[in-house]
Amino acid sequence: MAENYFKTYPNKDGFFKEYGGAFIPPVLEAEMKKITDAYFAISKSHAFISELRSIRKHYQGRPTPVYYCNRLSEKYGGRIYMKREDLNHSGAHKLNHCMGEALLAKHLGKKKLIAETGAGQHGVALATAAAYFGLECEIHMGEVDIAKEHPNVVRMKILGATVVPVTHGLKTLKEAVDSAFEAYLKDPINSIYCIGSVVGPHPFPMMVREFQRIVGIEAREQFVDMTGELPDKVVACVGGGSNAIGMFSAFLEDDETKLYGVEPGGLSLELGEHAATMTKGVPGMIHGFKCYNLQDEKGEPAPVYSVASGLDYPGVGPEHSMLKDLNKANYDVINDKEAIDAFYELSRLEGIIPALESAHAVAYAIKLAQKHPQSSILVNLSGRGDKDIDFVVDKYGLPN
Ligand SMILES: *Cc1c(COP(=O)(O)O)cnc(C)c1O
Repeated sequence: MAENYFKTYPNKDGFFKEYGGAFIPPVLEAEMKKITDAYFAISKSHAFISELRSIRKHYQGRPTPVYYCNRLSEKYGGRIYMKREDLNHSGAHKLNHCMGEALLAKHLGKKKLIAETGAGQHGVALATAAAYFGLECEIHMGEVDIAKEHPNVVRMKILGATVVPVTHGLKTLKEAVDSAFEAYLKDPINSIYCIGSVVGPHPFPMMVREFQRIVGIEAREQFVDMTGELPDKVVACVGGGSNAIGMFSAFLEDDETKLYGVEPGGLSLELGEHAATMTKGVPGMIHGFKCYNLQDEKGEPAPVYSVASGLDYPGVGPEHSMLKDLNKANYDVINDKEAIDAFYELSRLEGIIPALESAHAVAYAIKLAQKHPQSSILVNLSGRGDKDIDFVVDKYGLPN
């Protein structure tokens, strides 16, 4: 690894080796440059850092604990630990970058946060941050998703956000992204676009990583404090890759710690039935940046599927794409069924109901534990599963 990894990647044009960058229209390019400059000017200031620290401690409830899973380890072997991002305020890691992005907006004198949301998790986290700072919040969401994700739509509205239904095309995430960008470009002076993962054009993959690094920084220290050593293996689920990069970033220099990103294998590894971007994809362009992606015959983003809607994106963060090529992290898949089984195992053995996204990481940790009973495994439990309970029980039923 480079001597100062975080200053080397991304480079000043937003590249992680060949991945990332900003392939966007000139108007947007100018706006992204302004956000980048503001980010470097403001986020390193004492005022910004101390306010973010205070928010993390007093509002989000950080540091979140690292917990040793006694019964899970007893049953499957290994020593399995969880970084409890499910206990972060609002129930997932997403608030870490939303609070950072909203704080940046406040320092820039912006009045409105604009974003798209698919399943609604990013919309809810951003609406939470907007309420905290007294900013307006406008969330663009496909009509199909609005119908599917009713509780999150209600949550956003309770928190004071405006939900803008997107009615063209397939009426899902892709159209919502275009609609949100359009709204942002109409008023870039007063508004700011807030992306939901380590994806999109530069500077978002860098900014979101920086705001998520707190997860890994805390977890590494907590783990060493609890055990006197580093974990042998670190596991996180990968949609766009923000919770994984937050965790991995603290261990990149530790050659003895192996990193595992877990992608959704869905129903099968046939195109259209999964979202295993790095396992099955090829380098290409999506939404203004370069990364591994899943494409159809025409080179367009392919349809993707996962039981965990937070994981079904046909691209992935450029930094993960680089880490894969460098063999610094391993990427593998867990299918729907394995994730559902892990959802119930963690609930019944530890009293922790995980998000279906996080259940992919739990399932992989169980497999690793069975294969390597001597190792210690640290899982990033990215979120809690309350949002998924009705769906899981209706579709899969309760186990005996
Ligand atoms: C959104 C979400 C994810 C996937 O996003 P990443 O950017 O890959 O972290 C994972 N877990 C939970 C709980 C989520 O809400």
